[in-house]
Parts: sequence; structure tokens; C-alpha cells
Amino acid sequence: MRNGLSKDLIARVLGGAPKYTLDELESKFPPRQLPEGTLVTRFAPSPTGYMHLGNLYSALIDYKLANQSNGVFLLRIEDTDTKREIKEAVDIVINSLAKFGIKNDNDLSDYGPYYQSQRKDIYHSVVAYLLERGLAYPCFLSQEEMDSIREKQSAAGMATGIYGEFARDRDISEEDIIKHLDNGETPTIRLYSMGNPENRIYFKDFVRGSISVPENNEDIVLIKSTDRLPTYHFAHLVDDHFMRITHVVRGEEYFGTVALHIQMFRMMGWQLPNYIHTATLDKIDEETGKQRKMSKRKDPENNVAFFLEQGWPTGAVIEYLGNILAPGYEEAKLKGQVKSFWDYELRPKKIPASGSLFDMKKLEWWSKEYIATLPVDVLVKNVVDWANEYGDDNNKKQISDVDYLTSVLSIERDNPKRIRKDFITWQQTLAEVAYFWDFLFVPNKEYEYNKDVLKEFADTFNGADDKDTWWNKIVEIANKFGVKPGDVAMNLRVAMTGRTNTPDLYSLMHVLGGKRVLDRINMVL
Ligand code: GLU
Repeated sequence: MRNGLSKDLIARVLGGAPKYTLDELESKFPPRQLPEGTLVTRFAPSPTGYMHLGNLYSALIDYKLANQSNGVFLLRIEDTDTKREIKEAVDIVINSLAKFGIKNDNDLSDYGPYYQSQRKDIYHSVVAYLLERGLAYPCFLSQEEMDSIREKQSAAGMATGIYGEFARDRDISEEDIIKHLDNGETPTIRLYSMGNPENRIYFKDFVRGSISVPENNEDIVLIKSTDRLPTYHFAHLVDDHFMRITHVVRGEEYFGTVALHIQMFRMMGWQLPNYIHTATLDKIDEETGKQRKMSKRKDPENNVAFFLEQGWPTGAVIEYLGNILAPGYEEAKLKGQVKSFWDYELRPKKIPASGSLFDMKKLEWWSKEYIATLPVDVLVKNVVDWANEYGDDNNKKQISDVDYLTSVLSIERDNPKRIRKDFITWQQTLAEVAYFWDFLFVPNKEYEYNKDVLKEFADTFNGADDKDTWWNKIVEIANKFGVKPGDVAMNLRVAMTGRTNTPDLYSLMHVLGGKRVLDRINMVL
């Protein structure tokens, strides 16, 4: 340990006296009075303007763990990188979460503010405590000095960073601090690390099990000199403690610094949160066929906006992510034990530790199944909402007559055992049924129609015929022209829709209505 700084010097070093003592913070943000087994989690994105699928995956774990234990789920905005446009980026996060049904409890919880940029007083109060005890120190190394240290270290094949003998200001005297300050310099505040990488720290990660990692000896930056805001490491320590977070869910990229985080929690005498370091989401590369990490640059589906823009049912995306997280979920669902992922208990220990595969083909399956469970009015509402927000002009015309759209989407939805499963996204649903609208209908000019049959059908057609009468007429026409009833039906199908594969022909002709039916036959003739 080094000598602590005087209160006056701390105020000079931090650009102002700290607002709180540690005891004051403890009573301002007291331990939560929650029953045993209740989890408090947080989703802590840095607002970059881009919400990736891994973010959604993390947020889902946080939300689910809190929710199923009647706990608390917080959204914390890690906006200490002030160079970025914050407001719009935060809106993207909040809107995306809302669309996927993930609600935070920030308003119900008195542990804010939840924007790190508004918590400077809290960070400074904690760092003042460390400075006073010689557990942190002001460091006046310039960028050039640090660069040259790094170069020397690399040349000598040593670990790079500010540690041990390289931490020039580790034991800086009060006089020297004052000299630098008088000179107009603003220091970074560094941790006075007493770790030794030859020793190991043991801890339990929920996903990785019991683990040991070498101790940290780096004097990492706690408070930056540029804006006096905290680094991730320090902010995470302070926030997860004073928000009384019980479980920290974060990507495996943070696993490398967990030794540092444990060191700091111990140094403060604070209880360590439970860590859940999740595996990043992989995909199968289209070209190589090999499993690889998702990439922001190459994979459109790495962006949550992709699913919203294409109208993937957010409920289906959640179901599929849920199944990746809890591999037993699909079976429980197929057996009818649970209705949705929200009813299924997620066990933190079962969350996969590596190679979680996100496969668009599998998502299609979840999506088809999901849409098949929706009552028609819900299906229609989703399609309409999607078209209003993301659809093109044609989509908007398709939804302008909601009654017609409803009859179109009602086809093959009345028998719960035989619901059509060809709808995948809201966008694709509208494309799939496009032929119901004359301005989108593309007549099939290649098909070799039996025009006699079609003419006979038109001559005897009565839009009021029930299904049996309609079919009997088809059989009669078939007999008269020496073809099979199926051939008559196929001629009609192609004339009506341009396609050889459609849902129930009678229903679709019924929905098209007498005028369209005759127009389309006449178009062929
Ligand atoms: N802001 C960090 C990120 O977006 C948060 C990591 C954490 O959850 O602790 O990666």
C-alpha cells in the first residue's frame, strides 16, 4: 500500500470535493430487502446506435432471470464514451427491447440514475475513498510516455501495460502531485494493484463452473483524465454494487478481466456478484459451411433491426433464442408442458458456455410454428402494424382494406389441427398472399391451360355455390371433357393465382369473390 492523499489534495486531483462518503452511499442505496432466491440483473449496453443480436440474447437472460424470480431487471446506459450521439442510440435500445417484450424496472427502483454519465458524483466519491487509503493514485504519464513504455515492453517480450516498475507514479509524493497540478495537468486515477500474476484467484462462474485465473497486477485506469469519467472496470464495480445487482450477465469477452473485477470487489470489501459469462452467438458460414462468430460487417442478421425491418415475429425470435439458452425448452414445449419460453424456468447453470449457434433456417421453423398459433385477428394486427412501420407502398395498399386482408389471412386457419404453416415473417406473409390483390397479381403465361374447361367453368359458375356444389360442378366438367377433376382444379388454381401450389382452392376463390374469379378466367381466355 502507498500513503493516502489528504482530503484537500483529493479534491484538487478530482477537480472537486467528493459529494458522499461511502457510508452515505451505503445508506442511499441500501441492500435490497428481497426474499432469498430473488435475482437482480441489469442489461448495460453502450449506446452505439447498433443493437446486435448478442445484446438481445444477453438482455433476454437478464430479463428472464429477474422475471422468473420476481426480481428486478434494470437497464443501465453505459454512456461514458461521450464522443457518441447518445439520445438516438438509447432510443434504438429502448425501442428494440420493447418490441421483443423486454421491460425494465427502472421506474420502480430507487437505485438510479441509470445513465453512467449522470453518476460522476458517485464514482468520484468511491475513488476518493480509494485515494484516501492509498489504494489508488493520480498518474501523470503522458500519452507519449505510455507509448514508449509499451514499445519497450513489446521489444522485451513482456506484457504491456502500466504495472510494477513501469508504473512511474505509483508511489508519487504529495509534493510531486502538487507540482503537476500547479502545472495545469489533469491526472488519470489508477488502481494501486497489489496483485501478483503468479498467484491465482478462484471463483465460480455460472456458465464455466469453478475457475481459477491469475491475479491482476495492472494499475488500470479507474477515472480518465480527459473527462474524469470512469472506465468500464470501475463503473461496473461501483454500479453493480450500489444497484445491488446479484447476477452479472455479460459476454465472454469480459472473462479476461474478471480477475481485476474480483480484486476490486475484495479490496472494497463488497460482495462479489455472480458472474454469467455467455458464449457469443455463432452462425454457419454460407460459403465454408463452418461454424463461426457472427460479424457486424458480413451478417445482416447480427443487427436486431434486421428482424424488425423484415417483420420476423419478435415472439418467435425470443422462442428460438430461449431454446438456445435453455436447450430443454423445445422438448418441454412440444410435450405441451409449457406454452412459451416465458413460462419455462431458465437455469443459469445450463446456459451454453460455447458455440451457441443461431441458424436462420431453425428460426424459420420457430417462426412458422409461432405464426400458426396466432388467432387471425392477432395475425392481422401484426401484419398491419409491420406494414405501417416498415412496409413499402404495395404493402400499405394491401392493408388498406382490413376486412379483405382478414378474409385472405383466415384461409386454412379454422381447423386447429390443420393450420397452414407457410407464413414466416409479416413481410413474407404479405408477399405470399399478394395474388389476392389485382395490382399485384401476376398471371401465369407459361402454363398450358385447358381453355375449354375454363370456359365451361365460367359459364356454369355461381359465386354462391357451397363447397360440395362447387366440387360437383368440377367433377361434371372433368367428365364432359375427359380429364380428371384434379386437372380442372389445377387449371383454376393457376388461372386464379398464377401458381400451382396454393392453399385450399375453394376458400381462396370464395375470398377472391365472383368478379375477380371471372375476370381472371377471362384474362386467360
Ligand atoms: N457496456 C458493456 C457492453 O456493452 C456492458 C458489459 C456488462 O454487461 O458488464 O459490452
